[in-house]
Amino acid sequence: MDDKIEKIIEKINECDIKFVRLQFVDIHGAAKNMAIPLMRPDQIEDIIKEGILFDGSSIEGFVDINESDLVVKPEPETFSTLPWRPEEKGVCRFICDVYWPDGKPFEGDPRYVLKRVLSKYEKLGYEYNVGPEPEFFILDYDDNGNIIPLDTGAYFDVEPIDQGTDFRRKLVMDLETLGFDIEVSHHEVAPGQHEIDFKFDNALKTADAVITFKQAIKAIVDKMGYLVTFMPKPFFGENGSGMHCHQSLFKDGKNIFYDPDTPTQLSETAMYFIGGLLEHSRALSAICAPTVNSYKRLVPGYEAPVYIAYGFKNRSTLIRVPASRGKGTRVEFRAPDPSCNPYLAFAAMLEAGMDGVKNKIDPGEPVEFDVFKLSMKEIEEIGIKTLPSSLWEAYHALEEDEVIKSAIGEHIYEKFMEIKHKEWDEYRIQVFKYEIEKYLNI
Ligand code: GLU
Ligand code: MG
Ligand code: MG
Repeated sequence: MDDKIEKIIEKINECDIKFVRLQFVDIHGAAKNMAIPLMRPDQIEDIIKEGILFDGSSIEGFVDINESDLVVKPEPETFSTLPWRPEEKGVCRFICDVYWPDGKPFEGDPRYVLKRVLSKYEKLGYEYNVGPEPEFFILDYDDNGNIIPLDTGAYFDVEPIDQGTDFRRKLVMDLETLGFDIEVSHHEVAPGQHEIDFKFDNALKTADAVITFKQAIKAIVDKMGYLVTFMPKPFFGENGSGMHCHQSLFKDGKNIFYDPDTPTQLSETAMYFIGGLLEHSRALSAICAPTVNSYKRLVPGYEAPVYIAYGFKNRSTLIRVPASRGKGTRVEFRAPDPSCNPYLAFAAMLEAGMDGVKNKIDPGEPVEFDVFKLSMKEIEEIGIKTLPSSLWEAYHALEEDEVIKSAIGEHIYEKFMEIKHKEWDEYRIQVFKYEIEKYLNI
């Protein structure tokens, strides 16, 4: 028996594990799982080697009813116990890859999409790292059943204005049990809004971590009697929730975004990577900000990006290059929000950046003024373009971008467009309270 499996069996014995959850994500990045009750701990060997068949036709974006059988196979390295489940007869889980019954990887599995793109560049010696900054709201219900923020706190507030300290304390400790290396947690700008950041890692591990992070936070806060949302803009007039992604490329263990001999200490590779992200940012938005609600966050005035530009200290631009250099040299892409599927978003961001590197796309001059203070006319005169202002605009931009389409692959692209068209149509025919108030007396 291989070493890894032996260690897992030991752990299952030691932790009194009764259930094994096999987990993957659908096209939206929503976690899906099934639980296998263990009769004996060594049953896990067969599960890892053979995988388990399931009906793929009921998972969004997977397969049609006439070709429904798929197989999930656990990735042994993702083994972890679930701290929010009972200690006695506890639960462990694996993140899985999805295969066709004949053993070929299933091209509709978002994790496979990211693995395919990463391995293409790993063969050339690149390692792609991502450090995400997911923001979220903790909510309660008022007497009428409406959602309300847990507190009235603002950026970096302390208790008792910040009512989130006990939540964040519990979340940070449970996330550590799950293997997270937590860097910082704090109250964010909007009432009820919080942020917990964890250390960057290679893009696959980070994407797995984002899924675990969202699942754990929702499960733990639900047990505490409250609600968590990762939707990008739950409240009009308040900051929304982003998931800024700090990115770097390594080769031979060295950060190749760093070059001590240029005035900015950024390498040519870093500049072209920025060029690629900017060039493809409108199509990238469809993947990184994939909901109708995402575009209510991407508006001026709330620290979310609108203008396609980069800067060094500037938080009003789409890309910011933080001051850290050497190993920590990185670019922060601010369009993504936590409603995105991280596997698809990272695959698309890497292909966008690498297209810049391959084709030497010049990002132009940095923008170091607050773009939000300019009028539309001034912005147009300077030649700064904007991100899509709706999901409709975003998916049309994606239709025209071969680089981003090929990053996510044909299967996902076709299913994604079908789903997003429906989502837009469903939204566009709604009549909102805003319209009644504005137009009733016409
Ligand atoms: N909440 C902001 C956003 O939607 C980001 C605030 C920050 O810079 O952390 O992107
Ligand atoms: Mg933040
Ligand atoms: Mg940030």
